[in-house]
Amino acid sequence: MTPPQEHAEALAGSGDVVHLLSFDVEEYFQVEAAARSGVRREDWQGFATRLGPSVDRVLQALADHQASATFFVLGWVAQHEADVVRRIAAAGHEIASHGMEHRMLQHLTPDQFRRELLDSRRMLEDLSGQPVIGYRAPTFSITHDTAWALDVLAETGYRYDSSVFPIHHDRYGVPDAPRGIHRAVGPTGGGVLEVPPLTLRFAGTNWPVGGGGYLRLLPVRVVGRALKKAARQGRPGMIYLHPWELDPGQPVLPMPRLTRFRHRVGLRRTEAKLRWLLRRFRFTGIGRRLDSLLEQADGAYHYGRP
Ligand SMILES: [Zn+2]
Repeated sequence: MTPPQEHAEALAGSGDVVHLLSFDVEEYFQVEAAARSGVRREDWQGFATRLGPSVDRVLQALADHQASATFFVLGWVAQHEADVVRRIAAAGHEIASHGMEHRMLQHLTPDQFRRELLDSRRMLEDLSGQPVIGYRAPTFSITHDTAWALDVLAETGYRYDSSVFPIHHDRYGVPDAPRGIHRAVGPTGGGVLEVPPLTLRFAGTNWPVGGGGYLRLLPVRVVGRALKKAARQGRPGMIYLHPWELDPGQPVLPMPRLTRFRHRVGLRRTEAKLRWLLRRFRFTGIGRRLDSLLEQADGAYHYGRP
């Protein structure tokens, strides 16, 4: 039951806007930070899996608040932990693709990327019994340099993408990309709907607030304020998290100090923050609202410009 004061706050802030919630479904040892610290893909099967119980905590939180979400699932997870995918789909959530082996797009050729899109979709559709129409690149790795990926997404029949972070970052980001939902056009003219993570505009810069380490690091009220601000403009905000972010008991991987800080900061509080957001705002997945999101889109933005 939502306390009346909180409920009033949610109504005052968000109006009728339903925000978007997404999870990248991968093991804690599959993140880019682990790969950069020497964890090799051929060693993945030697690690103890911790994904299932974390996914179940996410599913329980969503069920407790009658929320639904999009789950971008790694093809490796479909191959090795099929039951996790079945449980997410059975709970009524959208299944989308997070590629096959968590390779950032700058390390794939267009042909390899096409194969990843087709293989992951086939596996995820077989397991979930639902059409897969959405994609998120590992580590938000669609940038101007990898904009060819947008053409490949369009050509393979994907309808939307959520891989562009409109910020400055050392590993990803397109700081001049639109902050709102828009049509992303690749160098040869292929287009998909782009759903960027929630940012705040402040002092002439876009600040990431909508998920992952940013959400873990920031007071959750800042995320709430950003959602209200988006809602006042009639736009949904998109939040993203990973099941491993709700698992403070995961083994500590050998990483450089800053990388380990980014990976582990606030893990104990992630579930409480997710539940705080679920109490105050309404959330749903991306794919099932595609038609209304297309209507709200801010026009086209061309990626891959020199
Ligand atoms: Zn990922």
